[in-house]
Amino acid sequence: MRAAVFIERDGVLADSDGGNGTAGKLEEFKIRTDAAGALRTLREAGFLVFATTNQPGVVSGKPSRRELDLMHAMLVRQLGLDEVLVCHHESDDQCPCRKPQPGLLREAARRHGVDLDHSYVVSDKWIDAELAENAGATSVLIRSRHNGSGHHDFVVEDLVAAAAKILEVAGQLGTLRVLAPRKKTG
Ligand SMILES: [Zn+2]
Repeated sequence: MRAAVFIERDGVLADSDGGNGTAGKLEEFKIRTDAAGALRTLREAGFLVFATTNQPGVVSGKPSRRELDLMHAMLVRQLGLDEVLVCHHESDDQCPCRKPQPGLLREAARRHGVDLDHSYVVSDKWIDAELAENAGATSVLIRSRHNGSGHHDFVVEDLVAAAAKILEVAGQLGTLRVLAPRKKTG
């Protein structure tokens, strides 16, 4: 089994300069400059790294499916992500994958052999702390006005500090020794 870090896309890995929290067009989508280094640290420690996002706007074409796919191809390439996990549903759809429902994490865990008990969710929003709780993972919130007052495990100042906190906690638990991928021999 591997451990993973699931990171909220909007406001943590990327910003929208369209005046809305989420990019409606490709030109509005800006990958954050501090993200690549933080994610490299996590990957080098043996974690799989995923972005997560609720994107109900695709249904109405904001952004279009093609633009969304291009945004996510950029994210994967520039940040070395294993995958971008997307819920395309509206809240009325009652799907199992719209955050804070744990469906996106459970599905990725099944496909990639991830142990969610030793995994982490990083976000600036309360909804992802609830997601972590629903999935049995540990939540690391980045301080913001969207933190809310619900359950969460840790609060840090930024993504770099979140990566450091995860390595610290995983080190204390012995997770990294257990879950780091074996080096290939020969
Ligand atoms: Zn969904």
